[in-house]
Amino acid sequence: MKIFFLDQSGTPGGAELCLIDIAKPYSDRSLVGLFIDGPFKNLLQQNHIPVEVLANQPIQVRKESSLLQALGSLKQLIPLIIKVVKIARDYDLIYANTQKALVIGAIASFFARRPLVYHLHDILSKEHFSATNRRIAITLANRFASLVIANSQASQTAFIEAGGHSEITTVVYNGFDQKIYQPCDSDISQLRQNLGLEGKFLVGHFSRLAPWKGQHILITALAKCPPEVTAILVGDALFGEQDYVQQLHQQVAALGLENRVKFLGFRSDIPQLMAACNLVAHTSTSPEPFGRVIVEAMLCGKPVVAAKAGGATELVENGVNGFLVTPGEPQELAQVITSCVLETEKSQVIANNARISASQRFDVTTINQQISQLLGELGIGNGVLFE
Ligand code: UDP
Repeated sequence: MKIFFLDQSGTPGGAELCLIDIAKPYSDRSLVGLFIDGPFKNLLQQNHIPVEVLANQPIQVRKESSLLQALGSLKQLIPLIIKVVKIARDYDLIYANTQKALVIGAIASFFARRPLVYHLHDILSKEHFSATNRRIAITLANRFASLVIANSQASQTAFIEAGGHSEITTVVYNGFDQKIYQPCDSDISQLRQNLGLEGKFLVGHFSRLAPWKGQHILITALAKCPPEVTAILVGDALFGEQDYVQQLHQQVAALGLENRVKFLGFRSDIPQLMAACNLVAHTSTSPEPFGRVIVEAMLCGKPVVAAKAGGATELVENGVNGFLVTPGEPQELAQVITSCVLETEKSQVIANNARISASQRFDVTTINQQISQLLGELGIGNGVLFE
């Protein structure tokens, strides 16, 4: 099957990293079309996945855009749609991996007469998207998509609650290559030494810097933890949240935590960094659609404390293979961190359970088989969809 994948992003967020794993098995007969140039293109190339940048300027519609703003961007979209239609004719299927990719992919699927699959990596709620954007996504998915792959039950439920047709949706979790999450011990101790973190109880936070990812919650919690607890914030402001980054630095200074919080920026050595941590914290203040970092930490055999909402509650069973805390509650978070400092044996048992359950549930080969089966069931090539 020849697949034309579409993704709007130039930077590798969770949806893009997931797409790499999905596109890899099809790399000899597929193409990823991006709507903007950037490091994600390089990452695809490093993974030997054919990629083409289809536009030379970013699409202006934002998650909170109104109908008028959305319509205003139509002029900009037309050349992109024409390009996508032309390319799509050489492929069996259009696979839209993001919301803007859905808009372009849906229109192109109509003109190129190709089936459309939409991989939903978002919770389509009012916390994340304007009413206009939600309406557009639901209308296009219902009208044009043969299949909507939701990345969690939380994403699927929000899609259906917003008016999406339940019969076209199915849940497929992200898959992970377990080998990557077993870095060798010498790499880990070297990393700790380089970062000047030997002898510290290290809490890692791995996420782009954005208010809803809640790095500020971890910083507040840290001030309530024993003094040996130190945090690394791994990730950058991918979508222009520079004000938030500044606020975080100010918060660290105001609490006198300069020696206990390190900002490491965007990194490509996530498994090594996670393995160097004693605990990984996930602190999103709005429901997380899936939460790749949670599974990655579990695969690294680390105890995870996650905000109890959205996809996180499908990944972590509190007190069994991780900890769940109320979103936006630094006091509760501080208590869990402190109990992990004090009860190392108990948290080690939980971390072992985490590794076992994550490797059983999120193996990339099994997940790719599920996707391949779902795509196979669309009846492409049998003339079922576009007769
Ligand atoms: N990530 C990364 N480098 C960083 C910070 C994060 O490669 O500096 C990766 C992280 O390992 C995870 C992804 O970015 O695989 C984030 O996915 P998640 O589902 O946690 O959040 P999203 O970005 O989709 O909101």
